[in-house]
Amino acid sequence: MQALILEQQDGKTLSSVQRIDDSLLPPGDVTVDIQWSSLNYKDALAITGKGKIIRNFPMVPGIDFAGTVHASDDPRFQPGQQVLLTGWGVGENHWGGLSERARVKGDWLVPMPNGLDGRKAMIIGTAGFTAMLCVMALEDAGVRPEDGEIVVTGASGGVGSTAVALLHKLGYQVVAVSGRESTHDYLRQLGANRILPRDEFAETRPLEKQVWAGAVDTVGDKVLAKVLAQMNYGGCVAACGLAGGFALPTTVMPFILRNVRLQGVDSVMTPIARRSAAWERLVKDLPESFYAQSATEITLDKAPQFAEAIINNQAQGRTLVKIA
Ligand code: NDP
Repeated sequence: MQALILEQQDGKTLSSVQRIDDSLLPPGDVTVDIQWSSLNYKDALAITGKGKIIRNFPMVPGIDFAGTVHASDDPRFQPGQQVLLTGWGVGENHWGGLSERARVKGDWLVPMPNGLDGRKAMIIGTAGFTAMLCVMALEDAGVRPEDGEIVVTGASGGVGSTAVALLHKLGYQVVAVSGRESTHDYLRQLGANRILPRDEFAETRPLEKQVWAGAVDTVGDKVLAKVLAQMNYGGCVAACGLAGGFALPTTVMPFILRNVRLQGVDSVMTPIARRSAAWERLVKDLPESFYAQSATEITLDKAPQFAEAIINNQAQGRTLVKIA
């Protein structure tokens, strides 16, 4: 089988496509023939070595994949069945999806939802799944379309793009924050009603004029601090990312004076019931046009080059990797 292998030499991460023997696959009860994977921000950090994602080398990266069960010791999965996987540390501490084959725990797999196929599932991927969890977090907090505008930061990225498309489809007024003018047409096509430049989110006071009923933040740092200061009374921010940094230079003011909720969102350890609910919602709520608008399809050998582009903020939407 072919796989992207990450190795470390003199503290640097090296990546190359190699042919390796199946017997090297890690232990697990289900072996999957992978047809599609994708590149997420975390994959880009791992492949370029810009983030401390991987501690044990050699490692096959790829935090998500879709494919066909090849062999299974888990009664819930049969050979020939279509499955998908996101999270659980796969591609971080267990060999991942940028490979023709993976061996994983049955507990980590999701049967392919009706209405999806492997290609569509990986256009969504971890990023889109996370966007859905963010939207569900806003719904759980009682944020409704009639309450006002929802701001999405890092809007042209994988999570941001999917959040814009989902929120628009659900009837929300969506304001996209993007650092690049080149993304504006794309964001409007996805359903953004307004677009604001990222540099308007560089400086903040503890409290500012109230503008947002809800927010999906993929950026963190000063951008998240600004969003918090601009939340309406009782609004909710679903925070899932750190594309701008992991700091949070804020004050308690939005929380104690405006009843603002800061809801963290994690996709890696999401319990099975919420996972299934999120995938069902994605099938129902993502418009068909999203799949054509948001995906750039590449082959495995191009993964390192596109990982570099993601880190340098030159990628738009989702990067789909065709494995077989
Ligand atoms: P992408 O690289 O696809 O998108 C990130 C976007 O953030 C970019 O497109 C860009 O949008 C913006 N951005 C990039 N660099 C900066 C910067 N220096 N300052 C401010 N904004 C920046 O990544 P994903 O959408 O896959 O992931 C987004 C974030 O969410 C990442 O931090 C990722 O780790 C996190 N994440 C978290 C998950 C979880 O389970 N909590 C799961 C999935 C992702 P634009 O050019 O439009 O401004």
